[in-house]
Amino acid sequence: MTCPKCGTNNQGAAFCSSCGNALAAAPTQTYSARPAMPANSSNSLSTVAIVLGAVGLLFLPIVFGTAGLVLGIVAKSKQEPRANIAIVVGIVSLVGGMILGAIVGAATFGF
Ligand SMILES: [Zn+2]
Repeated sequence: MTCPKCGTNNQGAAFCSSCGNALAAAPTQTYSARPAMPANSSNSLSTVAIVLGAVGLLFLPIVFGTAGLVLGIVAKSKQEPRANIAIVVGIVSLVGGMILGAIVGAATFGF
């Protein structure tokens, strides 16, 4: 094995006898490039949950808000980066949608 750094020919050595450079064929300790917690870069569930939450704010908050909230929690379990946003949107949709619905209902039916 020829040292790539200084060109010294080393026979079966892990390190160059001349400059101490680690040789390519040596059983070097390679650090895993994999992160400890693999981050899920996908936001597919969160995106659907946010859309459902947005729909729920205007239309059937019980149905769409709850669906968005549940999907947000599922997205959280899958470690999606936007899951927290989806959960917040779901809660806002559920609560805000019901308040809006009550206001609209009161205005419409004159309660
Ligand atoms: Zn060398």
